[in-house]
Amino acid sequence: MRAPVVSLAKNMFIAVEKYGGTSVGSVERINAVADRVSASHQKGERLVVVVSAMAGETNRLLGLAEEIDPEAQAREMDVLVSTGEQVTIALLSMALNKRGIEARSYTGGQVQILTDNVHGKARILDINAARVREDLENNRVVVVAGFQGVDEEGNITTLGRGGSDTTAVAMAAALEADECRIFTDVDGVYTTDPRIVPEARRLDQITVEEMLELASQGAKVLQTRSVEFAGKYRVPLRVLSSFEDGPGTLITHEVSDMEQPLIAGIAYNRDEAKVTIRGVPDQPGIASRIFGPISAAHLNIDMIIQNVAQDGTTDLTFTVNRNEYAQAMKLLNEIAQELNARDVVGDDTLAKIAIVGVGMRSHSGVAAKMFDTLAAEGINIELISTSEIKISVGVNDKYLELAVRALHKAFELEGDVTEETLTEAQEA
Ligand code: ASP
Ligand code: MG
Repeated sequence: MRAPVVSLAKNMFIAVEKYGGTSVGSVERINAVADRVSASHQKGERLVVVVSAMAGETNRLLGLAEEIDPEAQAREMDVLVSTGEQVTIALLSMALNKRGIEARSYTGGQVQILTDNVHGKARILDINAARVREDLENNRVVVVAGFQGVDEEGNITTLGRGGSDTTAVAMAAALEADECRIFTDVDGVYTTDPRIVPEARRLDQITVEEMLELASQGAKVLQTRSVEFAGKYRVPLRVLSSFEDGPGTLITHEVSDMEQPLIAGIAYNRDEAKVTIRGVPDQPGIASRIFGPISAAHLNIDMIIQNVAQDGTTDLTFTVNRNEYAQAMKLLNEIAQELNARDVVGDDTLAKIAIVGVGMRSHSGVAAKMFDTLAAEGINIELISTSEIKISVGVNDKYLELAVRALHKAFELEGDVTEETLTEAQEA
């Protein structure tokens, strides 16, 4: 996305607020959101409000399409699922108008959220925020439909599940907003999913890098793309509950590693699968011939593992999302034939667990501690992948809960991180 060119009159405080599906799940909830928005408006803030479809609506629409044709064209799917958000923008604007606040609703196309043409997971390329700016200058509340945009030819596109987060952060970036608040049904970002670990704790703050890793490893609280935007354009971002008041979690942009706990949180994703192509010739260009077609098919791959070659051939394994497993297997079988590989095998009962923390940069022994913990529970690790601030493992999905609980405990995420945890990790 292009950096904003025109900057607003500096005396306006601009906030972008995003309300997710459960926060606008009924007329009652929409009225509650209108109350919140008018409170911010009363304080003199200029507001852009981005909303999701009412809870369950996107799934309902997907279900209707499924009944007609499970392989319906992606273009038509986008026309269909984008309608959910159009309902909420209208209802919320009405609720605001009723409260004496001038509000205007806009679809993604109307505020010119320009995306590429990858239906179902389009990326935002540019936002022409001129119209929104004019409304804000006139003290109107601007209500924008999340999750949707238009491509260069004017076709409706959608940004992938959870895409309203990205709409909000991208709007905040385009307007150089003073704050972007993501209101949801939890009161912030947690050390891990409290449904699995009841002792999980809300974080007061987390770095944007950690949030990015957690989101991409399966934490559902923010869409990954939205965190990327927040990092790239340094959007001041906070995750809060729309059901209760509280400080939420601040996503920070600059914190020294020293002040950070070793591990910020644990993310998981149950819906993984792995595919292996066996006996491919070990020659230059093979990986590119395998992954070229896979990326052309827009399959998201994550962990990639290549074995040591034996007798001039090697095995290559990678993970995909479970709902893309069938497609990946089919594609890989075609590639295997072309490359004269021995065969293709797969397993769609994989789960991925990741521990994330910028503290890893300055402390050693974190990986060893993670592997020890899993070993003590008798959990077999099938794949491992690391980044500077993340270690993630693939395990059979039947061990998921056990693994997350054991790791949460081992890294003492329930309480404050003590010196002891750090020393133990270093010694491990
Ligand atoms: N309504 C869309 C979804 O359910 C987008 C969103 O809520 O962020 O994924
Ligand atoms: Mg969401």
